[in-house]
Amino acid sequence: MAKRRSEGGEVTRFAPSPTGYLHIGHAFSALTAFHARGKGGTFHLRIEDIDPGRCKDEFTDAILEDLAWLGLDWETPVRKQSKHFKDYEDALKKLNLKGLIYPCFCTRSEIKAEIENSVHAPHGPDGPVYPGICKKLSDEKREDRIDGGEAHVKRLDMQVAAAIAGPLAWRDAGQGMVKAKPDRFGDVVLARKDVPTSYHLAVTVDDHLQGITKVNRGSDLVPSTDVHRLLQGLLGYTSPTYDHHRLIKDATGRRLAKRDQDMTIRALRKSGYTPEEVINMSGFSG
Ligand code: GLU
Repeated sequence: MAKRRSEGGEVTRFAPSPTGYLHIGHAFSALTAFHARGKGGTFHLRIEDIDPGRCKDEFTDAILEDLAWLGLDWETPVRKQSKHFKDYEDALKKLNLKGLIYPCFCTRSEIKAEIENSVHAPHGPDGPVYPGICKKLSDEKREDRIDGGEAHVKRLDMQVAAAIAGPLAWRDAGQGMVKAKPDRFGDVVLARKDVPTSYHLAVTVDDHLQGITKVNRGSDLVPSTDVHRLLQGLLGYTSPTYDHHRLIKDATGRRLAKRDQDMTIRALRKSGYTPEEVINMSGFSG
């Protein structure tokens, strides 16, 4: 296990997905986490590459190169999530032993049709809540379908999970204790059909294994913190402090995305900007 806190500093991380080149919004996020470690603290770079269809090694290489160019350094080895599936499977087994996991064989179109036909279809932060089709299957039916080789995701039984965990709150650097409301997500997927984990599970397990004490990330991920806090409660993990920063927008007020090629650190480097200039453009002021 990684050290938790060293000489009063924080253990922080920047955790990009290598699905494109980093833009100045990522620079802001990485610099924020890097400086948040404080004196005597530790900064980790983590590559969140669980999605084989979207993640590319060339982008991972570019992330390391661009961050080093900005003047950042980090603990080695860099943790790449695709190399640690066993850790996520172990956590999933723990949740399964508590009776909180069930297999779901639904296709996207089956879920869509069920939602369209229902009178009451609640929406969560990630879209429509799963309507619970596979939750009703008997153990026998589940086993038959798994034995038959049917592809399936693994879902968390949110109602039971929330009841077992009881009321939870997470510590926000600005707002103090914030009540977690994970139930609005419904039965989230914790292992995908193609990968034995999901974003929510992998992030929670890694923040724990890396001993992260402070999570700096964009405010778009505030809702996800509710699910991460619940998983921490269920898995017996210590919850870090969360500091969600503002999102960097373009000149028209639109949030920057990886498709905004001219705002990538790479493009700005090529156009002759210095690291200091790129840091200033990102709005980071230390
Ligand atoms: N990998 C996520 C992203 O690139 C960030 C996850 C996190 O910071 O918790 O958006």
